[in-house]
Amino acid sequence: MPIKNRFAEMQTEITAWRRDLHEHPEILFDTHRTAGIVAEKLTAFGCDTVETGIGRTGVVGVIRGKSNTSGKVIGLRADMDALPILETTGLDYASKTPGAMHACGHDGHTAMLLGAAKYLSETRNFDGTVVVIFQPAEEGGAGGKEMCDDGMMEKFGIQEVYGMHNWPGMPTGAFAIRSGPFFAATDQFDVTVVGQGGHAAMPNTVADPTIAAAQLVLALQTIVSRNADPVEQIVVSVTSFVTASTAFNVIPPSVNLRGTIRTMTKATRELAEKRFKQIATSTCAAFDCRADITWIRGYPSMVNSVDQTEFAVEVATAVAGKCDLAEVTMGGEDFAYMLEERPGAYILVGNGDSAKVHTPDYNFNDEAIPAGCSWWAEIVERRMPAATLSDRRTARHPGRWRRIRLFRPSNPGSASIHSKRRAGERYFARAAGSRD
Ligand SMILES: [Zn+2]
Ligand SMILES: [Zn+2]
Repeated sequence: MPIKNRFAEMQTEITAWRRDLHEHPEILFDTHRTAGIVAEKLTAFGCDTVETGIGRTGVVGVIRGKSNTSGKVIGLRADMDALPILETTGLDYASKTPGAMHACGHDGHTAMLLGAAKYLSETRNFDGTVVVIFQPAEEGGAGGKEMCDDGMMEKFGIQEVYGMHNWPGMPTGAFAIRSGPFFAATDQFDVTVVGQGGHAAMPNTVADPTIAAAQLVLALQTIVSRNADPVEQIVVSVTSFVTASTAFNVIPPSVNLRGTIRTMTKATRELAEKRFKQIATSTCAAFDCRADITWIRGYPSMVNSVDQTEFAVEVATAVAGKCDLAEVTMGGEDFAYMLEERPGAYILVGNGDSAKVHTPDYNFNDEAIPAGCSWWAEIVERRMPAATLSDRRTARHPGRWRRIRLFRPSNPGSASIHSKRRAGERYFARAAGSRD
């Protein structure tokens, strides 16, 4: 089963939605227009419930299958926000908002999940409930966390969640995934090294924070080389070094350092924070300076669940013929919060030979739409296969069904009525369980 034919038919329509979103990018939680369009379309598709304002500007739609004997509820999540980048693609549908751009393809993610929602609302060929989740502020604002904090998982009874991101450099419409830690925890630090400034020709009379800060930049790398388990992934990057003076002949009173630390496991994350604070405090003290540390906890590591990843591979293989093992990435992903609350899996879909995400000449590849939409729809239809007629009759009238079983001629013998009824009940239990 490759691409679903319906999505090949819908590609032009979904592409038009995507390009409209691309033309009107919105940053962080300011996704008002985008959320409005999403809510409007979900309502027009006939979703059973459409709710806005979850996680500030997040939108949730509920689609019930033809039956619900499974009692299953699956969440499918897309992100809606853009980045503060000046677009240079020159496309005729390029951003109309200078300084804002869909440079991570969230326009494509939103359009693909809308496409899947339209198809699933039309067909409802599944036994359970789908919750489509459109989140704001994936790019550093933790919009996914805000949706969880608003009680989304409990309110809609979501049992497992799935996410998808386009990936430049992978063949268009191909899939890749990995089980376990996949994206990194993204903590940040801001340290002001406070010394005592003075005349640059009299260094003996000052406490020079530039010397302490320079030593600190190098010493921090020992978290990677001497403290972390050598087989663990970790990155320590100092990205800003600003002194409190621009003069040639003044030793500044302070230096500000900023940067990020990326880790994949809770243990390494805690170790890195502890060692960072120890090294900063004692290195500065060694030079008669003080370290004023602000530690900013970012997204946790995004960890794919084993069972759901195996299922995601099965579905991707059905859609694209195969599913590759993805490399670990030290980038962050807000979907991590949803995976902390529920089991699930996050997959990459190939964007072809495009510019990298977060660059001004990036563009989402519309040719990936049929594959992405098909994966969404297949996740639903395979995880919650449509009940057969007898399944549905059984769910509505379990007692009558048992009576039918009881007097079937194929169930003869000397067993008492009581034991026959129990046998029927056991079979019913097995029949229901067999759809898990
Ligand atoms: Zn991004
Ligand atoms: Zn992204």
